[in-house]
Amino acid sequence: CPPGPALLFVKTSQGKGEGRRFYACSACRDRKDCNFFQWEDEKVSETRLAAREEYNRNHQPSFTHRQNVERYNNFVQLPLSKRRFCQECQQLLLPAEWEKHSDHQFLCDISTAQLKSPTQLLYPLENKKTNAQYLFADRSCQFLLDLIIDLGFRRVLCVGTPRLHEMIQSKASQEEDFRVRSLLLDIDFRYSQFYTEDEFCHYNMFNHYFFGGEAACETCRKFLYQDNGERVIMVTDPPFGGLVEALASSFKKLMAMWKETEKEGHNNQEMPMFWIFPYFFESRILEFFPSFSMMDYQVDYDNHALYKHGKTGRRQSPVRIFTNLTPSMIVLPVEEGYRFCTICQRYVSSGNQHCEICDSCTSKDGRRWKHCVLCKKCVKPSWFHCNNCNCCALQNHTCEKADTGCFVCGKAGHKRSTCPSLFHT
Ligand code: SAH
Ligand code: ZN
Ligand code: ZN
Ligand code: ZN
Ligand code: ZN
Repeated sequence: CPPGPALLFVKTSQGKGEGRRFYACSACRDRKDCNFFQWEDEKVSETRLAAREEYNRNHQPSFTHRQNVERYNNFVQLPLSKRRFCQECQQLLLPAEWEKHSDHQFLCDISTAQLKSPTQLLYPLENKKTNAQYLFADRSCQFLLDLIIDLGFRRVLCVGTPRLHEMIQSKASQEEDFRVRSLLLDIDFRYSQFYTEDEFCHYNMFNHYFFGGEAACETCRKFLYQDNGERVIMVTDPPFGGLVEALASSFKKLMAMWKETEKEGHNNQEMPMFWIFPYFFESRILEFFPSFSMMDYQVDYDNHALYKHGKTGRRQSPVRIFTNLTPSMIVLPVEEGYRFCTICQRYVSSGNQHCEICDSCTSKDGRRWKHCVLCKKCVKPSWFHCNNCNCCALQNHTCEKADTGCFVCGKAGHKRSTCPSLFHT
């Protein structure tokens, strides 16, 4: 389908054994966006195959990346008064094209500064299931970049982090002694209007698919290969609805790509990585990457109603950094209330108390958690031990028999779409 190879899923119905396997779109969880569906054992007729190919051709972007780079070069030659951006088509317009967009809304006098901040110019795609774009608040983006610099990295593979890429690109073009370089991999092709083929690859992180084929893959490989693969870090912030196993499989392929390139020494090392994701996915991520640990730093967003700083004090964001770097190296800002726990050897939220019984700073959400002797672990402050369920839960929960657990938190009684941990109870 248009976003590249489909993924193989399995439909299990209760008490019916194995379940039937089918292919569906890797990137679009919503049937409205891409309705690709095929049973694994289904025979596909010639006509259907032809129709599919036709559909895929019709869903190609109207310009190639190469063409977009050329258009950009023409665009910057124009005087300010002739620089227009069509808001409906999300496209830079050349004067010859004005006519075609005459009844569209457009912005005028597009400045060089605006061209250097595409995440401000483009509207964030907000389709919940597919392409939710939640942009880092400036504070969080600056924190990430400072951390990366302090850790001595020189190259950043930005996978679905356009705002971090933008910050790096703009500093690299403005500050002479700024040494960090970056490459953006993202499914949002609108960025090809602002970045060259060495700065952006159209990429699907659910199936490790480079839309630009072998040449684009080679660009990525080359980027990782510089300096023998040293001092490079990957930073990714995938859509939260994304399937962890699909993401993990792609990230392992990117890691393997990095590994291939290293010549000698650090053979057993992994490519350093920051995977930014909500804390309730911790066990899922550790399943695939046992070497990772979760940092307490709360990542804030600009356009996310839930995860941004409120006007009246701070709203807690559930989004964290998962990394395979040694936790003690990740220095969190003391002025924002983080402190160093000498026993855990990592920075933790100020509210995160070291539990003597668990022998660790156990809070996941920044609030002080309490230890339950019956559960033998720390739990959220709002929870109580329920003798019916034999575990801690909210006081007004409905007791349920354990059957199939929720995909996010593993608990019974709800599906992942309505998981209470998503809503911070
Ligand atoms: N906080 C980040 C943006 C995260 S939003 C920042 O400010 O830089 C998620 C990003 O992943 C978006 O840029 C979106 O376009 C991209 N994305 C969504 N689905 C993707 C996919 N299947 N493959 C690659 N990138 C994807
Ligand atoms: Zn238009
Ligand atoms: Zn501790
Ligand atoms: Zn405890
Ligand atoms: Zn309990």
